[in-house]
Amino acid sequence: MRAYDLILKKRNGKELNDGEISYLINGYVNGEIADYQMAAFLMAVYFKHLNHKETLSLTECMRYSGDTINLDGIKGKKVDKHSTGGVGDKTTLALAPMVAACGAKVAKLSGRGLGHTGGTIDKLEAIPGFRTSMTNKDWISQVNEIGVAIAGQTANLVPADKKIYALRDVTATVDEISLIASSIMSKKLASGADAFVLDIKVGSGAFMKDLDSAKMLAKTMVEIAESSGRQACGVITNMDQPLGNKVGNALEVIEAVETLKNQGPTDFTELCIELGKQMLVFALDIDENEAVKRLEESLLSGTALNKFREFVSAQGGNTEFIDNPETLIKETKQYEYNAAENGVIKGFDTEKIGIAAMTLGAGRAKKGDKLNFSVGFDFKKTIGDKVQRGEPMMTLYYNSGEKLERALEILKEAILIDRSDKTVKKELIFDIIK
Ligand code: URA
Repeated sequence: MRAYDLILKKRNGKELNDGEISYLINGYVNGEIADYQMAAFLMAVYFKHLNHKETLSLTECMRYSGDTINLDGIKGKKVDKHSTGGVGDKTTLALAPMVAACGAKVAKLSGRGLGHTGGTIDKLEAIPGFRTSMTNKDWISQVNEIGVAIAGQTANLVPADKKIYALRDVTATVDEISLIASSIMSKKLASGADAFVLDIKVGSGAFMKDLDSAKMLAKTMVEIAESSGRQACGVITNMDQPLGNKVGNALEVIEAVETLKNQGPTDFTELCIELGKQMLVFALDIDENEAVKRLEESLLSGTALNKFREFVSAQGGNTEFIDNPETLIKETKQYEYNAAENGVIKGFDTEKIGIAAMTLGAGRAKKGDKLNFSVGFDFKKTIGDKVQRGEPMMTLYYNSGEKLERALEILKEAILIDRSDKTVKKELIFDIIK
């Protein structure tokens, strides 16, 4: 077999068999196939796509390219949640303790942010002392003891995806459905859960910019999970504006805590209830109404907040900020950003908002960049709100005047105000794919 022939075959729109896909992926991981050949193959896939069978085959090859995790040591059904990535997406921080408080087991591996999207591990590291690196043994025993543990991915989980994703990132081949689905699902399957709730983001801050593509991605991911004998559902949610009001690592932790105190933003709370409902249905085999009742009760009674306290403490974090959130924000100044004109907010360029946050220091432009956990935004307005010229739209937390200037330049183009008085509809959950 030669990589050249397989690139040609895909370039001509033909189907590759399991052996051919495995030859390409294993060869690339072993260093026998060069970057330029894999890049050409990925571009051929971008234009000619992979069918269902090829996508499954690619997922399986990547899944077994390194270590896989066995969660049999955890009693009961293990349910995982994954978001395709967005701005202000602090869902795991509130959702994991909520479902754990309702009796589900959450053994979660999360990632760091890159580019305009954030990552759960970075947000957790905004908590002083919090450990995101754990041995598998400690991770599993923590789930058995308190129902929830969240750790960073180990270096050898799906190495094929690490290598291929880095190449996709620099060859304009990220946004192809079969590649995204196999990349995400190979990691999910390798990390061992029995069921997955997939939050597929759509809109200006997401990989998927239109609803049809998001539905196709959801369907592909659910089919991959089911073909591997797991359960899954895809919840398609809006990323045309940041989720909740706060963007930035420590600010998002604070907003997750407010939500666990049942004082969070409506959209974010609604999303946690919807995703939590799907997780509990899988994990506990209860009906949807019962699941919603338990989740709402966990917020009202404080059991979800207590679970979060227990979780932070178990991973070495200082819990003082839970009662005194302001202690999490260090050495920043605040700048009020006011509306430039009268009108109604008709939308945001959410990717630009993520880039503006990154410019302040909340995210990484490249791997290894150091973060400032305290910087970010606190929005006062969302889509559909009326604004008057000069009215506060958001507060920026910053620590460098020069970075603030650059972020403000980006924000000018990121908030879209309609001068007419017409109402603008906002939806949070578009569809659920099972
Ligand atoms: N997240 C991933 O892990 N992989 C992709 O391809 C896109 C988003």
